[in-house]
Amino acid sequence: MSRNAESTAFRSALEVIRAVEPRVADAIGAELTDQRESLKLIASENYASPATLLAMGNWFSDKYAEGTVGRRFYAGCQNVDTVEALAAEHARELFGAAHAYVQPHSGIDANLVAFWAVLADRVESPALKKAQVRQVNDLTEADWFELRRELGNQRMLGMSLDAGGHLTHGFRPNISGKMFDQRSYGTDPATGLIDYDRVAEAAREFKPLILVGGYSAYPRKVNFRILREIADSVGATFMVDMAHFAGLVAGKVFTGDFDPVPHAHIVTTTTHKSLRGPRGGMVLCQPELADQVDRGCPMVLGGPLPHVMAAKAVALAEARRPDFADYAQRIVDNAQALADGLLRRGAKLVTGGTDNHLVLIDVSGYGLTGRQAEQALLDSGIVTNRNSVPQDPNGAWYTSGIRIGTPALTTRGLGTAEMDQTAELIHTVLTQTTAGANADGTPSKAKYTLDADLADKISRQATDLLAPHPLYPAVDLT
Ligand code: PLP
Repeated sequence: MSRNAESTAFRSALEVIRAVEPRVADAIGAELTDQRESLKLIASENYASPATLLAMGNWFSDKYAEGTVGRRFYAGCQNVDTVEALAAEHARELFGAAHAYVQPHSGIDANLVAFWAVLADRVESPALKKAQVRQVNDLTEADWFELRRELGNQRMLGMSLDAGGHLTHGFRPNISGKMFDQRSYGTDPATGLIDYDRVAEAAREFKPLILVGGYSAYPRKVNFRILREIADSVGATFMVDMAHFAGLVAGKVFTGDFDPVPHAHIVTTTTHKSLRGPRGGMVLCQPELADQVDRGCPMVLGGPLPHVMAAKAVALAEARRPDFADYAQRIVDNAQALADGLLRRGAKLVTGGTDNHLVLIDVSGYGLTGRQAEQALLDSGIVTNRNSVPQDPNGAWYTSGIRIGTPALTTRGLGTAEMDQTAELIHTVLTQTTAGANADGTPSKAKYTLDADLADKISRQATDLLAPHPLYPAVDLT
């Protein structure tokens, strides 16, 4: 395909949009400029391919397609069937999964589908069985009462938020925290690593219906074989949310005990992080749960998004190519180079390093909160996000950590030498930033000072670092 084709496609699209609402066309153009110019280290973001982006911008978005392939509640879904079946086939082949459900609109939605599927499969309740066989109208008041009581009293054991777990693993800001009686497992305070004996102990005491593995901010491999053994020992369903590291599973960096798919009963993921697809979610599961999982829409999801499923099919086809394995390995090589560069310069890292795509800097070592560090880095053209560290004294808003990740910069083609330079830029900003004070003289968790000239200088250095690796090199909007 000619490089010209990509330029023409995006330029023509913007011209069509500009004729209706020029401000939207301008914002889309400005977003490309911003993304091109910023050193993006947000661990959950990436750059999808032009083919993936273009698969989303078309008339598939006009189609309703409630139901599943070949069994729709709307007429005329033959083309949606084609792309949904393709996306599911690529997902099954890529991950070696028995079943794939590609309709979830996001990671949160994928988790909701999984929770409902497990509840429906596992909870012994005549009322629930009635609801499942679509006799909802026959449910009496007493049935509804029982249903709510049964469903609201199930237990979930997941990784604690400050150790790197995700809100959807049973925490209060998410519905999962209201649906489930939740308990969490943390990490060993000395090493920052998951202590599997402690997880087993918590499982024995708590007897969860669902044991959740997976994380948003844990920089190490997880042994899913051991977690499955723990789940089995207490009769729990083992669910893994691999939203962050799906690309490393797809690229066969995480294999054997570290690949969740052969070990978990059910696996959820996003498609847009390390997997580098469109924004969306997906559920993979063993055959016993397939029927419940496929009820995701309308049980907990709105109508499927055929344009996004088309883009998922494209991105998953890309992830099946041999060069994706090379990409996945480079993500980890880069994260390790970044971690080594920071450690050599004296930074404090949670767990002392990384095995995956992310690094968690404990910025208390620089006398800063996560919020101060995040803003100072942003002033210097480096985009990161603040994150709690285990037993964080600054809570989830100010935090004491900065989470950085390499999937996006690796897509741009940056390598380990540039990661060392990136470590230098980050370390310089953080050492030169000073925590500020409130009007009454007490220490502020948000205010900071950083010399504006230094911030400008670092921004220019960040831009220089990116210059040899243009983002979407074939796309010229001028
Ligand atoms: N699960 C994990 C582990 C995540 O890190 C995230 C997003 O940060 C999600 C689920 C939610 O994904 P989404 O934003 O697509 O709903």
